Amino acid sequence: MLRGQGASTTGAGAEVAVPDTPPPRPGFSDPVEPPPPGRPWTVLHLLRWSTQYLEGRGLTGVRLDVEYMLAHVLHLSRMDLYLQFERPLEAAELQTFRPLLQSRAQRQPLQYILGTAAFRDLELQVDARVLIPRPETEELVEAVLQRVREWGREGLEAVDVGTGSGAIALSLLQEGPFRRVFATDVSADALAVARSNAERYGLLPRIAFHEGDLLAALPSGTLVSVLVSNPPYIASAELPALEPEVRAWEPETALVSPDLVTPGDGLAILSRIIRDGVAVVEPGGLLALEIGAGQGEAVLALLREVDGWEGSVVLRDLSRRERIVLSRRVRN
Ligand code: GLN
Repeated sequence: MLRGQGASTTGAGAEVAVPDTPPPRPGFSDPVEPPPPGRPWTVLHLLRWSTQYLEGRGLTGVRLDVEYMLAHVLHLSRMDLYLQFERPLEAAELQTFRPLLQSRAQRQPLQYILGTAAFRDLELQVDARVLIPRPETEELVEAVLQRVREWGREGLEAVDVGTGSGAIALSLLQEGPFRRVFATDVSADALAVARSNAERYGLLPRIAFHEGDLLAALPSGTLVSVLVSNPPYIASAELPALEPEVRAWEPETALVSPDLVTPGDGLAILSRIIRDGVAVVEPGGLLALEIGAGQGEAVLALLREVDGWEGSVVLRDLSRRERIVLSRRVRN
């Protein structure tokens, strides 16, 4: 039985006298002790103890992380873990789990510890060479898919600038009417990760990787229907305010952009993609960019300054923050 469960059911006397202090909440205020000597850790006991261990080091909302790490070690799904709460753990299992917990205590992101990140229908391999793909970027992919489905065409080509783990490029190939995607990145390390993810999904034949600086990485004369990018758009001044998981572990080149006009705007890379993208997107084609919350007006202004884009709109993410800009290459 859960510790404390009995206590809450024997509190019926509260009908007559309201206690001054609320009954203790199990797992909240009670410190979780290790099992007595000679008794094994169980799944539930280890989950509770580890959660408390991480909370003691200043992390919050980590119960789920602990569940994922233990499920990973035991080769179970989280659901199976729930069905095996009383399972005693073997020494070897504890030994495998311990360094994972320690890594998380050092603020390593869960996805790097597990080596995988979920993105739309994909399970991508990730490590510190690439940005962990974010749910907001799933929305960017969704926005692109919606637009291109309206066209009703097949066999499209796209460019994913700064592909990182390959999240956007691979999702487009898997879910959309795309024949081929060009994926660029300035980091050879990132491209190695993207390549192995493409291989995992049998998509290597339909993806062309190019190492280099933004659109300059592409073979000259490349012309596509869709240009999509989740580029670095965080201003360097904002870096110290980010979560330690992001600041200390994720690649800075994937996150931070120099400023363009005003200090802290983080717009330089977005601006270069908008300017150089004109030559890469066919007339009537789509430009889809992920942007920082609050950058919408400035990015619309950049699009207006460049001759070649029309019908630009800013879309908000599920948290109602400005996150996506769509624009159409002028037909001429
Ligand atoms: N395209 C990748 C993603 O969206 C990587 C982006 C980046 O490194 N800035 O996750």
